[in-house]
Amino acid sequence: MHEMSITQAMLDLALGHAQGQRITDIHLQVGMMSFVVPECVEFYFEYLSQGTLAEGAKLHFETLPIEITCLDCGRQADLSDWADDPPRAIMVEALARGCRCGSKNLRLTGGTGFDMISLEVEVQEARGRMQEARGKKQEKKRRTSDD
Ligand SMILES: [Zn+2]
Repeated sequence: MHEMSITQAMLDLALGHAQGQRITDIHLQVGMMSFVVPECVEFYFEYLSQGTLAEGAKLHFETLPIEITCLDCGRQADLSDWADDPPRAIMVEALARGCRCGSKNLRLTGGTGFDMISLEVEVQEARGRMQEARGKKQEKKRRTSDD
């Protein structure tokens, strides 16, 4: 359930930054070791943002790989190649294997966070144009389903 409080904090931060403008997009970075599930954040966001200026905003998630740093030689290993394995298994194996220099003095230095990187707000003048674009998209969808 910790996604709910995380989502609430992210929403509060976004609304604070938007300064009364309607939010259309929120860009987020999720570390592979953060244990934050994007689907859960999206679910809670839809619920929590109701009636706020962020209602209907699209969430964009970027996954950050796990990064391990050797405290003896300073080498950083990015574990993105193993992205299909469960994060815990990746960590355990990497730490057991140790660094190329032979050291087992390793520290997790990346991929643990959940951060809001940027957000997009609706610009007053662009509102009409955006609605027009949305109308066109729906029209296109309807046409495709007719085929
Ligand atoms: Zn090393």
